[in-house]
Amino acid sequence: MRILITGGAGFLGSHLCDKLLLAGHDVVCMDNLFTGCKGNIRHLLDHPYFEFVRHDVVDPFKVEVDRIYNLACPASPIHYQYNPIKTTKVSVLGAINCLGLAKRLNARVLQASTSEVYGDPLEHPQKESYWGHVNPIGSRSCYDEGKRCAETLFFDYHRQNRVDIRVVRIFNTYGPRMHPQDGRVVSNFIVQALRGEPITVYGDGSQTRSFCYVSDLIDGFIAMMEQDAVLGPINIGNPCEFTIRELAEKIISKVGGKSKLVYKPLPSDDPVQRKPDISLAQQHLHWQPKVPLDEGLDLTISYFRELLQH
Ligand code: NAD
Ligand code: UDP
Repeated sequence: MRILITGGAGFLGSHLCDKLLLAGHDVVCMDNLFTGCKGNIRHLLDHPYFEFVRHDVVDPFKVEVDRIYNLACPASPIHYQYNPIKTTKVSVLGAINCLGLAKRLNARVLQASTSEVYGDPLEHPQKESYWGHVNPIGSRSCYDEGKRCAETLFFDYHRQNRVDIRVVRIFNTYGPRMHPQDGRVVSNFIVQALRGEPITVYGDGSQTRSFCYVSDLIDGFIAMMEQDAVLGPINIGNPCEFTIRELAEKIISKVGGKSKLVYKPLPSDDPVQRKPDISLAQQHLHWQPKVPLDEGLDLTISYFRELLQH
């Protein structure tokens, strides 16, 4: 198949490019390189079935494909809050452009949605049936509400125009190729520990997240795209839940440096707890994560150790 990946030069997108090329597909990677980089796809640039297109998803595009994975959107709070109006435009106009293309081509289109649609959840763990607890006017809203509106558009294009959609809600995913200045917790803590710098815990570190290793996430993406039973939304993530302080201590003990924890103010609307209920993915996709946090952290630490040496 010919497959378009928007945001294909980012952390998740570049792993998806790798996996789809390995399966023998023809991949078009579209990215404006806002948070992604050519380094993530450098090893693919000479591949005969790989094309890189520098383009902003906010502007319409035409390309003949059978599948579209829509990943274009900054994912880290510091990056999506840098230009919040643009973040909403990327989510909403990017979704409209992908859906319009899918409609014209009769292609299947998958949206990379997020656990942020649940906001600061009052239900725990989060099931897909939960409608969420989202502040519509806060500093995270550009991302949360942008992604919620994108989901709305996906289902309306399906109901109104019969577009063949799939929607996955991704929970905190980490691994090699996260940008060292990405600002998300796993990459921040690993980079700080490797440099012997203080580990910046926001708040008292009692808030929780459930961390999924990138290879598991990519398997879940493809399983969702290539099945006909459900449209979604479907949670993809690892249900093993940790406090942020536990994560910091684990990383310090693995890296073995002298870093100490320093406590910084908690950003506004930072969710207190997050853990996916993955029963639907288990039932319909026969998918569940395989890589435990300890193993995934070891692989990620090795990646950053090498990166920081150059
Ligand atoms: P990332 O920032 O590494 O990747 C996003 C990619 O989109 C980057 O390559 C960036 O340059 C590109 N991009 C941004 N704006 C664009 C635009 N206007 N036009 C074209 N390309 C643009 O982040 P990621 O973790 O790889 O996230 C990929 C997708 O998955 C995002 O949509 C994100 O919202 C979603 N997601 C990720 C996680 C996670 O934990 N990694 C969790 C929930 C949702
Ligand atoms: N966090 C932290 N220190 C950091 C970066 C993040 O304590 O250097 C916290 C953050 O406040 C949040 C959690 O770690 O509670 C996960 O943050 P991240 O930005 O990775 O993802 P999200 O908040 O979008 O789940």
